[in-house]
Amino acid sequence: AGAAAATGRDLEPVTRDGERVGLHINAGLRADLPHLDALGADGIGLYRTEVPFMVRRSFPGVDEQARIYGHVLARAGDRPVVFRTLDVGGDKILPYWRTEDEDNPAMGRRALRLGLDRPHVLRRQVRALIRASAGRELHIMLPMVSQVWEVDRARELIDRERALARERGQPGPSAVRLGAMLEVPALCWQLPRLLERVDFIALGSNDLVQFVFAADRGNPQVTRRYDPLSPPVMKLTSQLVAETEAAGVPLSVCGEMAGNPLEAMALIGCGVRRLSMAPRAMPGVRAMLRSVDTGPLSALLRDKSDSADASLRPLLQTYASDHGI
Ligand code: PEP
Ligand code: MG
Repeated sequence: AGAAAATGRDLEPVTRDGERVGLHINAGLRADLPHLDALGADGIGLYRTEVPFMVRRSFPGVDEQARIYGHVLARAGDRPVVFRTLDVGGDKILPYWRTEDEDNPAMGRRALRLGLDRPHVLRRQVRALIRASAGRELHIMLPMVSQVWEVDRARELIDRERALARERGQPGPSAVRLGAMLEVPALCWQLPRLLERVDFIALGSNDLVQFVFAADRGNPQVTRRYDPLSPPVMKLTSQLVAETEAAGVPLSVCGEMAGNPLEAMALIGCGVRRLSMAPRAMPGVRAMLRSVDTGPLSALLRDKSDSADASLRPLLQTYASDHGI
């Protein structure tokens, strides 16, 4: 009972005005998995598959990967797990995967770009995911999508692997749900075509904010100059919520913003209803949610969407303390 009280895991993540917010964890290590039960999470909103690759000295084979993913699915039970395909390059390097040097790795041939250009690794990963999720739904999420055709190419690759599994008489997943991460600004202006092709969208605020402000996420000298709690980011997020909602495609936010109570509060004000965060962040976010009223908060953000303030943080901080959040 003490543990439940500390994490609030038995308290529904519902706002004061009755909006249910999905609370998912970001995971990658085996040690993350017990948090699902301990925190009463709704599922794994982002499973970073590069993490098990990064802690090994060479590529895990298909069998080994299938074992890793199978273990994650077993621990999750009937909660959904969103597997993100390898997001390497940029700040995540696999020493045993030789790639060319780049002046600008964050904007280089990383993530899905590498996956499609050198598909051997992605193909084997998809094969392992299909094998591990026999008889259940498989959620696959693509990192750093910049153009709609990349989703089509990834789907073709997945379909080919499903067909191969069928030919071999292997039981496959009951369904495959394919999602795209929204991290590259250009994707924001391709939504009508994108939303026809995907089952869900995850806004990766770490990368999206970095590219919106052209400010390296790993360089505090520049990240301190820009606040994600700024009119441009709030306006963009509200627009993405409206467009995805109109298309009936669920949107979640899985960058660090989702795990910071004040920033998560702002996301709720923009209309976001699904968050995925580092496990340690969930108790604080859950407590925030239960004391927030979405109506006045959304009105405040709408009102400030064209404000000249570089940061809405002081305003939101005042709002939070005035409302007992
Ligand atoms: C993001 O960019 O917000 C994200 C969740 O992906 P990562 O932090 O792993 O790049
Ligand atoms: Mg990212």
